[in-house]
Amino acid sequence: MKICVLPGDGIGPEIIAEAVRVLRALDLHCELEEALLGGCAVDAAGEPYPAATRSIAEQADAVLLGAVGGPQWDTLPRAQRPERGLLAIRQQLGLFANLRPAILYPELANASSLKPEVVSGLDILIVRELTGDIYFGQPRGIETRMVDGRQERYGFNTMHYSEGEIRRILRVAFAAARKRGRRLCSVDKMNVLETTQLWRDVASEMAAEYPDVELSHMLVDNAAMQLVRSPKQFDVLVTGNLFGDILSDEAAMLTGSIGMLPSASLDAHNKGLYEPCHGSAPDIAGQDVANPLATILSAAMMLRYTFSNEEAAARIEQAVRQVLAQGYRTADIYEPGMHKVGTRGMGDAVLAAL
Ligand code: NAD
Repeated sequence: MKICVLPGDGIGPEIIAEAVRVLRALDLHCELEEALLGGCAVDAAGEPYPAATRSIAEQADAVLLGAVGGPQWDTLPRAQRPERGLLAIRQQLGLFANLRPAILYPELANASSLKPEVVSGLDILIVRELTGDIYFGQPRGIETRMVDGRQERYGFNTMHYSEGEIRRILRVAFAAARKRGRRLCSVDKMNVLETTQLWRDVASEMAAEYPDVELSHMLVDNAAMQLVRSPKQFDVLVTGNLFGDILSDEAAMLTGSIGMLPSASLDAHNKGLYEPCHGSAPDIAGQDVANPLATILSAAMMLRYTFSNEEAAARIEQAVRQVLAQGYRTADIYEPGMHKVGTRGMGDAVLAAL
């Protein structure tokens, strides 16, 4: 198991250090190689995704990333900004499937803005297509055109999906459903958009290949409502880039605590980039207060999806559940009466639970 580790900027190095300790404690014979991405790479090598990092990432089976960015790099030319490094690595590795679980541990039910009984115990996975759809479709632009007899500005984008693109993301979603509750809900807008009518047709055709997974369909406007009305009805949701962008953020916020949310982005061979959903949190960097659990849970996703090591993944997730049940809390999820710990202290607690 070759893992490329990219701590990045801000709280990145602190939270990655804890995830690395957890991986090492599992004694998995993994080879970890660290490299620079983001602002730290700009400072050291003049660009956010240097060739040395590129080659390490390419040769690795999986990439574990902290976060990139910070105010000190915000005034650089666009090509040199840390976020460019992130886009470049995603593109280079051909990561077309984004997996974002939204799990609300019963102990943290008060962190959600929804009623505890609606969200407590929530465990859903959103699978979002990441490289197609209206975000990348051509033609696109803003032009001045003749509209109703007068010149005015005209904005346009193009939504499209090929059958092959739909099939490959659905394959990831069906496979993910198999590893969980075996229920898959495909989200589209087939009543208005032909592209998503094709999406629904392809999903229905593929269902025969996965008789052990129960496939359902839902229109995106209804899915947005159901996610806040009764989110626990879902197991795995799969959708295109545009709808997935919105629904995955909505689902993430059901849990209320950004420091707890992992993510995975996969290519066609399950090589993946694993990272917490949050950013580099420059406001708390270097203070030993950041919550490392999203990054530790991202490492668990890596073991499950790239290395098919369900047992090790489940052990990490169980350890996280245990430390929450024992009352350990970093500042972002702290409630009076709980045992407040820093980044390192939370890592220690997870290691003890393991
Ligand atoms: P952010 O996610 O970094 O922070 C938002 C808020 O959440 C802050 O108050 C922060 O302290 C808190 N927070 C985030 N992670 C936390 C954790 N693990 N534990 C405790 N609290 C946590 O978002 P932002 O402030 O909008 O962005 C800061 C920088 O991060 C920017 O430069 C931005 O471009 C970058 N960013 C990077 C990524 C990425 O690397 N994937 C994603 C989003 C933002």
